[in-house]
Amino acid sequence: MSLADLPPLREALAAHGLMARKSFGQHFLLDLNITRKIARLAEVGAGDRVIEVGPGPGGLTRALIETGAQVIAIEKDARFAPLLEALAAASGGALTLILGDALKVDEAALAGGQSAHVVSNLPYNVGTPLLIKWLTGPWTPASLTLMFQKEVAERIAAAPGSSAYGRLAVIAQATADARVVMDVPARAFTPPPKVDSAVVRLTPRADRPAPDRLDALQKLTAAAFGQRRKMLRASLKPLGGEALATAAGLDPQARAETVDVAGFLRLADAWLELRKTGA
Ligand code: SAM
Repeated sequence: MSLADLPPLREALAAHGLMARKSFGQHFLLDLNITRKIARLAEVGAGDRVIEVGPGPGGLTRALIETGAQVIAIEKDARFAPLLEALAAASGGALTLILGDALKVDEAALAGGQSAHVVSNLPYNVGTPLLIKWLTGPWTPASLTLMFQKEVAERIAAAPGSSAYGRLAVIAQATADARVVMDVPARAFTPPPKVDSAVVRLTPRADRPAPDRLDALQKLTAAAFGQRRKMLRASLKPLGGEALATAAGLDPQARAETVDVAGFLRLADAWLELRKTGA
């Protein structure tokens, strides 16, 4: 049995009596033209290791295996095990299936200490926590190609001055280069979600901030965007207010949404410095 002998995804789902479950954020891509396009956008191929979260019926998994990559797929819903085990058997050793929660796995151990790319049509309920884990946690992916609700994708890649610009944009862009690379309409999924989706490609930056700078960035963006209509001198008051903004070379009267990522990094450095000197 090879990949080409597998039944179409719809038939495979029916043969295993599987229906999508809302509680697992299940909206499936059953059109291999779309999953192959996502695999192309991920720019993975022979010799690459790919971690896929939530393979479900395995449409994206099939496309990733076709590239020649070595795929490690983590699925929380054990109902999919028999279907995915059949795919693993047909993959000729290219697919390793892990049944478990992607929020809890140790990616470095899964990848055997080698670099790995992440490609996923993410479950809506855990998409953002997973992204933050991959961008700020101890393990650094080689790249991330991820499907989100379109509104979340726009918040990840937003530029300063736009209403979508906020904490997520600052954290994502301080740690990675982020681009929206594909729009996917709701009707492409089975069952269709209420909103459209988009694929974001992120490449972690070589100069990713150290953990203490990231912690400072998390605190400062929480305070600044928690009261986004207020001026920095007011929203950042508990963290140093006017003196802090000035030390970072920012106008204390500016609002958070006008401060670019470099500005927030300067704020983080100024806050760490102020704490060190006890000022
Ligand atoms: N990749 C499939 C596709 O494109 O058709 C399914 C995508 S569906 C949006 C999300 C998948 O993630 C489901 O299979 C769901 O069971 C799985 N899932 C949900 N939460 C998970 C978690 N915490 N860890 C691993 N998989 C999870």
